[in-house]
Amino acid sequence: MAGIMDRIDSFTIPAACVESLPKQAVRCTACAHTCILQPGKRGICRMRYNRDGELRVPFGYVTALQPDPIEKKPFAHFLPGSTALTFGMLGCNFHCDFCQNWISSQMLKDVSASLPLEAIQPVSAQEIVDLALRRKAQVLVSSYNEPIISVEWAVEIFTRAKAAGLHTAIVSNGYATPESLAFLRPVLDGFKIDLKAFREESYRKLGGSLQPVLEMIRAAKEAGLWVEVVTLLVPDFNDDPFELREAADFLASVSLDIPWHLTAYYPAYLQFNAPPTTPTQLQAAAEIGQDAGMHYVYAGNRPGRVGSLEDTFCPKCKSLLIKRRGYNMLEYNLSAQGTCCHCGTSIAGIWTEDPDSISITGKINPLF
Ligand code: SF4
Repeated sequence: MAGIMDRIDSFTIPAACVESLPKQAVRCTACAHTCILQPGKRGICRMRYNRDGELRVPFGYVTALQPDPIEKKPFAHFLPGSTALTFGMLGCNFHCDFCQNWISSQMLKDVSASLPLEAIQPVSAQEIVDLALRRKAQVLVSSYNEPIISVEWAVEIFTRAKAAGLHTAIVSNGYATPESLAFLRPVLDGFKIDLKAFREESYRKLGGSLQPVLEMIRAAKEAGLWVEVVTLLVPDFNDDPFELREAADFLASVSLDIPWHLTAYYPAYLQFNAPPTTPTQLQAAAEIGQDAGMHYVYAGNRPGRVGSLEDTFCPKCKSLLIKRRGYNMLEYNLSAQGTCCHCGTSIAGIWTEDPDSISITGKINPLF
């Protein structure tokens, strides 16, 4: 592990989200763990570390960089049909047993997570933005690992992306701080937040805590970011109907317009024994969200098997606005102003001003 750690550490800069403490200690303020690090020590994420009194943080590399449909993040109300150039690094501040990206997220925490040194590819922020423009991406997204632990790198890229006219987003567990939110806010448009459960004991198992995530969902919304929430529905972990109703009531109290994605789990990482989530379980969970008054509840990872739960409907006249199957769009019925084409109701989200530019079935982007 020493080789990969040396290579990771060679791509670091001094932190922006940090406070100095006596005797060369530092407090990292990027995520809600707010680790206090003595010289030579690493944070819970293992990627930020104290070198001689200076907090060093990840910068200047990617382990993944690829164009994805924005629907894969998932975002349903954020420029649907657009290409999201997505970059990822290494590390996470959680250790979820069911992580679907565990090799990159658990690097330096789990000895089974290994990658060749060449997987860490040096790149500049401007090179990433230039690639996005060449690939005609409209959105630059930080995903695959936890973006908050490398918030300085995200801000560097997003600053250049905004200057180039792109939109930006992060796909995060939401375990952020008011400090990192304020740091990101000027250059961030979209914030996809996982609500992994609605029980404190469940979050403890994942290496976090529920309350900071709830506070971040509310804070991100109040800050004017476009927020969508995802709950990976893991049988016997977070699918209790009472728990789901509490989660739905919380989201409804923040905004009925937050899209809530309930997505199917497949066995991964350490959770090999739990069965995959069935379409019926997804539909039952979605009904709970709808009963709580949420306007936009989606079921994901089971394309074509969850009825109309992949589609968007007008909350007022109930007309079909967007018909989807998986990452493909079959119909798009919003105006250039983001209103329902049938009754004119304004639909919450960030929408294209050129609906004719959207790819629908038969013209699916060959990148995907
Ligand atoms: S990002 Fe979070 S886990 Fe990592 S060092 Fe900072 S406070 Fe600790």
